[in-house]
Order: sequence, then structure tokens, then C-alpha cells
Amino acid sequence: MGKLKLVAIDKSYRTGNQYLNVLKKISLEFRESEFVSILGPSGSGKTTLLNLIGGLDQYDSGDLVINGYSTKHFGNKDWDAYRNRSIGFVFQNYNLIGHQSVLQNVEIAMTLSGVSSAERKQRATKALEEVGLKDHIQKKPNQLSGGQMQRVAIARALVNNPDIILADEPTGALDSKTSTQVMKILQEVAKTRLVIMVTHNEDIAEEYSTRIIRFLDGEIQSDSNPIETTDSVKAEKPIKAKKKNRTSMSLFTALSLSFKNLLTKKGRTILTAFAGSIGIIGVALVLALSNGLSGQLDVMQTDTLANFPIMIDTGEQFVNFDEMGPPDQNNGDFEEYPDDTVIYRYDNMENFSTHTNVLTDDFLDYVDQMETEIADAIDNVSYTRGVEINLLAQHDDQVVKFQTTSDAMMMPGMPGMGGQGTHWQEMPSDEDFILEMYDFIGEGSRLPAADNEVAIVIDRYNRISTEFFDKLGFDEAEESYDVTDFIGETMLKVIPNDSYYTEEENGFFSPANPSAYQDLFEQEEGKELVITGVLREKEDVTTAYFEEGFIYTAALTDYIVANAQDSEIAQAQEESDLDLLSNVPFQNDAMKEQALIRLGAITTPTGINIYPTSFAAKDEIKAELDNYNEGLAEEDQIVYNDLAEILGDIMTDMINTVTYVLVGFAAISLIVSTIMIGIITYVSVIERTKEIGILRSVGARKKDISRVFNAETLIVGFVAGSLGIALSYLLIIPINNLIEILTDIPNVASLAIIPAVILIAGSMILTLIAGLIPARMAAKKDPVVALRTE
Ligand code: ADP
Ligand code: MG
Repeated sequence: MGKLKLVAIDKSYRTGNQYLNVLKKISLEFRESEFVSILGPSGSGKTTLLNLIGGLDQYDSGDLVINGYSTKHFGNKDWDAYRNRSIGFVFQNYNLIGHQSVLQNVEIAMTLSGVSSAERKQRATKALEEVGLKDHIQKKPNQLSGGQMQRVAIARALVNNPDIILADEPTGALDSKTSTQVMKILQEVAKTRLVIMVTHNEDIAEEYSTRIIRFLDGEIQSDSNPIETTDSVKAEKPIKAKKKNRTSMSLFTALSLSFKNLLTKKGRTILTAFAGSIGIIGVALVLALSNGLSGQLDVMQTDTLANFPIMIDTGEQFVNFDEMGPPDQNNGDFEEYPDDTVIYRYDNMENFSTHTNVLTDDFLDYVDQMETEIADAIDNVSYTRGVEINLLAQHDDQVVKFQTTSDAMMMPGMPGMGGQGTHWQEMPSDEDFILEMYDFIGEGSRLPAADNEVAIVIDRYNRISTEFFDKLGFDEAEESYDVTDFIGETMLKVIPNDSYYTEEENGFFSPANPSAYQDLFEQEEGKELVITGVLREKEDVTTAYFEEGFIYTAALTDYIVANAQDSEIAQAQEESDLDLLSNVPFQNDAMKEQALIRLGAITTPTGINIYPTSFAAKDEIKAELDNYNEGLAEEDQIVYNDLAEILGDIMTDMINTVTYVLVGFAAISLIVSTIMIGIITYVSVIERTKEIGILRSVGARKKDISRVFNAETLIVGFVAGSLGIALSYLLIIPINNLIEILTDIPNVASLAIIPAVILIAGSMILTLIAGLIPARMAAKKDPVVALRTE
């Protein structure tokens, strides 16, 4: 009863339009153990027969019966498992994997069948010992002679203990002495299993084999020791390889195969990885920079900008109520690029309207209510008063008026900031807010606390404008001052309205004459102001909150308001429709209201600053204000300004724009390097075609082959990603140095660990995708064709 039986096997190859019938209805049966030599001229179909028996190639018709079971219904996996377990191939040209050691070449079939690494090593070593190569197991195949390589191939064929050894001209490339060694080994092997050998050498066939089959043109000519063919083919029922019998290559095996292969091409791998890393470096640096910049912005916003007030001002301002919507593109009835030659006139202010906030009692109540309702969000609410203050300054026995109002326009969008050139601002009550932005200069410097205290603010160069000194009556000749000239000094005095304005006989009032300033300064009425300190903005503060000049407390404002309200001129003005200072009638009610505000008769604030407790609180406050505006006519709405947001938005926009542009460039380099890695993988597939054939011949599945190449691209992707990240970290150092030189901000660019890891993973995924198509091509390669390539 035979081990292996061929029943009318037929095989044709198609070349162009012609069919070549290579095997013609071959029927043959083999014993469980015998040494069969197949002799025949070149091209007679011997190799084809071996490949069919070994499951590397598929027959067209007939049946291959293994252990009495038909293979007609074998699937790919069954053939893979069959090759791995039942067949050992020995080829004329050895077919060893060049980048693997002798030991690893022998182990390869076992790695596919899931044998543990210790057992693999032990069995492979034993097999190599049996073929007399004990001392060469760590060598690479190219360090061995032809006979030694063929013995490695035999060891590889034997190590999985297959039932059948198929040897295709194993001595074809060997001299007679080494041929004898190889044949003796095969003869020994044939004692316990079936060896089918194709050879050209009649003598060898005669000497060693137990049976000789002669082949000609795809037909059997003679058989020296045929078997009585048993008629009944038992159990035609197809068998399927059970799950546990299937071969599979572990990811680790795939990785180590590819890693070793890459090691043999170090230069190219490093170049590839470097090219691949450029895209990663681009993305990493962009990330690091934009991350660092927005981090910087966040710090700025939470540190200082967050505490900037939401400002509601009563000055006239330009507002675009449609700002939130898309810009009006149709431009009314005007046609784009008209054909006619008419020139039109249009109103470029149409989209803007001027708006004046009217702080009604309703609104003031609403703000009061807000202060209690969202107390957590509001740090402080401060009110600006329009009341004019009569301030005199004394220097060198000379007294001048310190003008606290300015005719200059308030800066648009920056109302409540004290205006331009007044040098006289109320400070917010939150001391921490001020101290976050300002340092004290000079010994004993402190913030004003009481209603008779003020402080001086200087700029980052320790400067204050000439105007300020003029207002104080300082001589132009005096070029330098010291903080000690100011701290603790009382050079300012607030003069009450009743002293400053004198009522004339006709009922009108006149302000004090400059010649009377000296007396006014020396008289008892009024309030002398002490300078408590000098403040300068901190180094890392980007926006100066105060203009240089004096800052004073809200308590002083309260004092002035209370004082002015009770003054004779204020009360008299309320009764009269004539301007009591200029003696002319008011043109309208608004003019009178302005005059009453200046004199302190009307205490309605001219501005409100709401100080939030945090950045989030700011949004809460704005939501409340928007709530108030809801449903109100445009003229009744309250428009607020948020300086911090304007600043923050501009910077965020800038950072985003720069980031998008850079990301675009980085993406292009990523795409280029991905395509390149795809091409390189393709080249690698071409180069490793032989290895693909060898792996398939020892039972690797198509899946395993694509796994090998995917492992290779994964490794390249990992190296490229890691190299890219490492280089990025290195590049960040000089970049940060440069930024620090340019902007004084240290360590702007920073790449966190998590994005770095994500980038490496991303690089691996990208190269994996790039290699998918070449890997599939590799998997689809016909093993027979693959083995034929050199
Ligand atoms: P042998 O091993 O006896 O020299 P082969 O079995 O290798 O012969 O080849 C038998 C014939 O089949 C030859 O003419 C060969 O050209 C042809 N042949 C083998 N493989 C293929 C193939 N994949 N495609 C087309 N023709 C093939
Ligand atoms: Mg051949």
C-alpha cells in the first residue's frame, strides 16, 4: 500500500497562445520509504512533477492521493500546511536565505509551525549535526562551500521530520566528492521515508537509489521497481487541514526576518529612514512651535489678559452690528465689473454705524444685579465718572494747573484706558491684577490705598513724556529726576469746586486765575495728595495697562464726586439753561448734560469696567451682557469691548495661519517620503523574490509573506519616526535659542512626549500603507516562478 499516489495527473503551461502539455496523464505510486531517482532530459517535466507532488504548483486534472486521501479539494491553507509538515525540498541551487544564519535557515520551517524557540534551536542544531555541519551553525550561507550549503538545505528539509523529501538535482552544482557526501546523507534519509530525487547523473542514480523512473516528454518511459497499483482509491472524501494543523508566522518571526534583511542593507535603510524622517521632523517642529506659541499665549492670557476688564464706555464708537454675519458681498445694487463707463458714488460707512452707549438706570441696575448673581465671575466693577477735577501742582514755589482732561480722541476700542495723554488714571481695585503687571521702583514704593494717595507709572525705559513734566511745572532744563524726588512727596492738591469757581455778581461763575493758584494751594480747603510709589511694567508683560503718569484710587474719585455734587456751581447749573461758565445758552439738552456731568451734578458713570476673576468668567460676564442686549433696539444696546480678546484673537489668528502654512509644507514632505518608501518596499520585494519562494516552499502562507514585508515597512517607519523625533528634539534647541535671542521668550518650542509617540506611530502607519501594495504583490507571487528567479 503506497504512501503517495498520482492518478492521471495532467499539467499544461500556457505560453502566449500555445498550451504546452508538460505532464501527460501521469499515474505513479510510491512506497512509504524508498529512494526514487527520476531521470530524463532537460525540459521533460521532472521539476514540474516534483513541484506538483510538493504542493508548490497545482495539477490541472487527475488526483494526488496522500495517505489514501484525495487532494482534489485542498485549499490554499491545506497546501501550505502540507508543504510545511509533510514535505522537505532540496533544490539544485540550495535556495538558502542569504541574510539569515545557517541555524536560522534550518529553523525557518519550524517557526512557521509554531515550535518554541528553545526546541527550534535544539532540533535545528541536531539536524545540522547529522549532516556534519555542527561547527558552522552561526555562519552565513555565503561563507560555506556548495556541498556545505546543500547539506544545510537537507538539514532544513529534514528538520520538521517530513514524510517526503523532494530533491531537484541536488548534486547538479557539486563536484563528485561532495556529491557523494550529499548522496550518502540522502540514502540514509531514504531508509525511513520517501525520497524522490531528480538527477541527470545515471551513475549516481544507479548507485544510491532503490528505484529509477525514466521520463521523456511528460511521460513515464520506464520504472525499475513499480508497485502493483491498488485499484481502489480509499476515502475519496477530501480532508481539510484542521485549525491547529495550519501554519502561521508570528509577527515576531516576520519582524526578525525583516530586521535581519534590513541589517544587510544598513546604508540604504538609514538613507530611507532619514528621507522618511524629514516629513516627521517638519510636522514635529510645526507642532512644537505652534504648541509652544499657543502655550505662551495661554500663559499670557491667564496671567494678565484674563484680568483685563470688559469695558463699557459712553464715548462715540464705530460698531459693526453685522460683524458676526458674513460680510455683505452684493454691495447693494452695484454690479461687479460693469460694462458701462458711469462712475458711481457710494457711502463707505454704510456697513458701520456710530453707537453711543447710554447707561440707563435699567442697565446700571442690571450690572448691580449681575454683581450679586454671578459674584464668582466678577472680581470688581469700577465706574468712570465724567466729573472734572481741579488739580494743582506745586514745584519750586510755583503752582500750576495739572490738566486731567484731554482734547485728544479716545483711542478707538480702548476706552476706559485713561484716554490719550491725560497722565491721570483711576486704578482698578484689584491689587493683584496690578502687581502681576507692574514692579515697584524705588525704596518704599507701594500702591496708593487712601483717597489722598497717588502713584507714578513709568514706561519700560523709565520714561515719562515731557507733557507730564510740563503739567507739573517742572523746568525743561531739569533733565533727570530720581524716584526719591517723588516718593513721599506732596506736590498735588485737589481744589474743591467752591474754592476753584467764584460766583460773579451776575450769577455766572469763573474759574480761578493762575495768579490765585498759589493761594489756593496753601489754603486749608482741598486735599493734598501724597505720592506713594513708582511703578514700572514687568519685563514679560506684553501690553501696558496704564499710560505713564499718575494713578489714583477709586476712593479719590468718590471724594471728588461727593464734593462736586454739593458744590454751588453744580447746583446753580442744574437750575439754569445758560452755561454758567461761558455765559451762553446750551444748544441742546445733551450739551447741558455734559456740563452737569463735568461739574459733578450728574453722577451717572461715563464708563464701566468689569473685572473678571478668570478667563472663563469673562465669557460668563459677556453672556450676561449679551442677554441684556437681546431684543433691544440697536441704539439701546450696550456695546462692550474686551481688549484682551482683541489681542488674543489677533495672536491666535496669526499662530493659526502660520501653523496651517507650515503644516501644508510638512504634509507635502510626508507624502513625498511615503511614496518613496512605497517604491523602496517595491524594490525590496523584487530583491527578495527568491526568499518569498523559499518561504512558500517551507509552508509560509500568502498572508505570512505580506506580513514579512509589512514588518519591514513597519521597521522602516519606526526608524524614520524615531529618527525624526530625535532630530526634532535636537533642532528645537537651536530654534529655541534663536527665538530667545529674537524675542526674549525662552523655550517656546516644546514637543511633548505624547505627540512625539503619536508621530512615531503615524510614521509607522504611513509607511505601512505605502508598503501595502508591494507587500500584496509579494504575497501573490507564484512560488514556482519565485524559486526560478535568480
Ligand atoms: P525539467 O525539470 O525536466 O527540465 P521542467 O519541469 O522544468 O523540466 O519544465 C518542463 C517544461 O515546462 C519546459 O519546457 C518548461 O519550459 C516548461 N515550463 C515549466 N514551468 C513553466 C511555467 N511556469 N510557465 C511556462 N512554461 C513552463
Ligand atoms: Mg528541472
